[in-house]
This record gives sequence, C-alpha cells and structure tokens, in this order.
Amino acid sequence: MGNNGSAGSPGKGPGRGISRRTLLIGGGVAAAGTAALAVDDVRRVWWRMPGVEKPRKEGELDYTPARWIAASEGNWRRADRPDDFGVDRVIIHVTQGSYASAVKVFQDPAHQAATHYIVGQNGRVTQMIRELDVAYHAGNRSFNERSVGIEHEGFVDRPQDFTAEMYESSARLTAAICKRYGIPVDREHIIGHVEVPGTDHTDPGPHWDWTRYMKLVRAASTAAAEGAQAS
Ligand SMILES: [Zn+2]
Repeated sequence: MGNNGSAGSPGKGPGRGISRRTLLIGGGVAAAGTAALAVDDVRRVWWRMPGVEKPRKEGELDYTPARWIAASEGNWRRADRPDDFGVDRVIIHVTQGSYASAVKVFQDPAHQAATHYIVGQNGRVTQMIRELDVAYHAGNRSFNERSVGIEHEGFVDRPQDFTAEMYESSARLTAAICKRYGIPVDREHIIGHVEVPGTDHTDPGPHWDWTRYMKLVRAASTAAAEGAQAS
C-alpha cells in the first residue's frame, strides 16, 4: 500500500537512517507525501505506521501489582496507544461469572471479547492485555480504541459480590491508569459499560456503588500525587 518510492531513494544515508526510511516507505507514508513533511512531522507520525511498534516484552505489565495471564489474540488487536489512539476513558465491567471463568473465556479466541484487567473479589488484579493494545470490551469501536477496560468478578444482581477488597484494589488500578494518561478522575471519564453509546450491556449494574468507588479513586490519586511529591 502506497509503496511507490516517491519519498526518495531508500538506499541513501548511513546506519539507522536506512532502516527507518525503508520502514517508513514500507509502512505507507510515501502515499501521504513524505517529502512534504517536516522532520518533526515525520517523527510525530512515526509510531502511527502499521507494523511499526514500540518494543515490548512478553509478560510485561502496565500495572506492577498485577499478575500477567495473556488473553487470546482473537480478543484484542495490536496498537501503539496512546500514540495512535489517545486513551481518555476507563470502562468498568462486571463478569457475570467467576474470576476463573472470565480468565478462561478471555483465553478463548472464539470469545471475541476481553478486558485489559480483571479484579477478583479478593482484590487480586490480573492483566491480560497490554494497555498499548485495543481490547474488545466496550461493544463500540471508538470506545474500545480510547479506553482501558476492567472486569470485576461477580454478578450484577448480587451486591455482596462487590467486596471492599475489590473496590479498593480496582480504585488503585483506575487511579494509576488515570495518572498514566492524564485522564480526569470524574464520571465523564470513568464510566460503566452501560454508559457506552450503543451498548446493550447493563454492567456494572445498580449495585455498583459509584459514590464509594469514585471517592476511593480520588483518594488513591491524591495519595499517589503526594507520594510523588515526597520522593
Ligand atoms: Zn461489560
């Protein structure tokens, strides 16, 4: 696609320049008119090119208290967020099943849905998809592209499933995500699956205590900010 060579001869120049220019052309920048772009523009679009990605390591976490279990690649797609898509939402889900059943379906390529994280009733956090990547969880393409999804172990009609450990642990995770991308800690940016435009899902349901949750997220955000100032 777009590999017409009009951006110049890839063989010129020493070292790194060769591979970068070759990749740029191969990645389709030539069609957009590389010659017309200033150096800064080229640098800015560099990570947006298909097939050009930040280095990543198997099992690497975005949230260090989590443990890693990889979701099937059928349930997400590779991306380079926040460079290709900005991240400005955290979306709260409830699994409608056990932690184990959620892990199992996220490992199933036929499921075609998964979140980045699952929080258990015991407060344990498992990361299954990198935040770089787009997880299929919101039922809305643009909301998938712009969000990080968190599942919570339980059933929407069982208030006792939403334990203190779960709320506190999830709030710390959400606070860390908001800090990482500069997402405001408010209900416009931290939303339930039910609030995604076009969805037919109702989670996290009427028993999810938003007032309690947002208070915990704000407290975790403040604690993190004070910790950063002190160090
Ligand atoms: Zn959901």
